[in-house]
Amino acid sequence: MLSTGASTSPAALADVRGRAYATLLGSALGDALGATVEFCTPSEIRAQYGVLRKIVGGGWLKLKPGEVTDDTQMSLCIARSLASVDWSPTDIAERFAAWFKGWPIDVGNTCRRGIARYINHGTVAGPFNEGDAGNGAAMRVAPVALATLADGCLLECRAVEQGRITHNHPLSDAACVLIGRLIHMGCTGQSLERLRGEIEDTIVRFPSFRFSPYRGLATAYVVDTMQTVLHHFLSTHSFEECLVATVNQGGDADTTGAIAGAIAGAFYGPAQLPEHWVRKLAPTLVKEIQELSGHLVARSPLGLSQPVMM
Ligand code: MN
Ligand code: MN
Repeated sequence: MLSTGASTSPAALADVRGRAYATLLGSALGDALGATVEFCTPSEIRAQYGVLRKIVGGGWLKLKPGEVTDDTQMSLCIARSLASVDWSPTDIAERFAAWFKGWPIDVGNTCRRGIARYINHGTVAGPFNEGDAGNGAAMRVAPVALATLADGCLLECRAVEQGRITHNHPLSDAACVLIGRLIHMGCTGQSLERLRGEIEDTIVRFPSFRFSPYRGLATAYVVDTMQTVLHHFLSTHSFEECLVATVNQGGDADTTGAIAGAIAGAFYGPAQLPEHWVRKLAPTLVKEIQELSGHLVARSPLGLSQPVMM
C-alpha cells in the first residue's frame, strides 16, 4: 500500500482518480441494476429475466430505469459532506436527516431509527444493539475510503464512526472496515492476491464472514451480504460479470450490488464500467460522482501528499 508522505507520479495519481470515480459510479450502477430484483429469490429472477444483465428499473419500488435508491443517496450525503467540511459526523448526520425529511423512496429500518435518534437527541452514535448487524452502514462506506486513501488507521476510525451514526454492532463495523480496505487496495492498483489476503485476514478475526462453501444467502444481514459480495467478487473476472452474478443472487440485491460495485469498480477501474449501464444513470448523477470522487482523492492523505495538484 502507498504510505502516507510517499509522493506518487502524476500518472499514478490519475489512475487513482479514475479508480475512485469507478468506485462511486460502480456502487451507483450496482444499486440501479440490483434494485430491480431486490427481495426476489434467484429462481424468481430466472423465471422473469433469465439472467438480469440490463438496468431496467421496476422492482418493488417501481423505479425508472437508472434510478438509484438509499444506498447511493446515503453515500452521496457522506461524499458531499467529506467534500465540503472534510470530517464531521454531525454534518453527515445532518445530511442524513435532511435526506430523510425529503421522503426518500426507501430507507432501511436501522437507518431510520438512527436518523430519528439524531433528530431527537442530536447524538451521532447509538449504543450497541444486537439488531444492528444489518448492511445499512456498510453500503455507504465507499466515500470514506476515498477520503482516507493511503491512511489505513484513519480509514478504520472513520469507516466505523460513519457506521455508528445508525449501526452499532461489531459485524457492521468489521464489514465497513473490510470494504474500505478493499477499496484502498483496489484504488492503489494492488493485485487480486493481496485483496484475497486481506479478506482472509478478516475472516480469521470474524469467521462468520467465511463464504466458502457459499450458502447462497443474500439478505440484509451484513454477514449474508458480505458472503455474497466476497464470493462473487472472487469467483468472477470482470466488473460486469461480478455485478451480474451478485444481483442475480436476489435478496438485498441493490445493496449487495452497491457494495460489489464499489469494490469491483476500484479493482477493475473505470475502463470496465459498461457504457450501456452508465448511459442509464442520470447525467447529473454521473457528473456529480465525477466531481466528488476527484475532491475526495484530492483531500485524502494520498492527494495531500502530492507536491503539485493538477
Ligand atoms: Mn436500496
Ligand atoms: Mn437494499
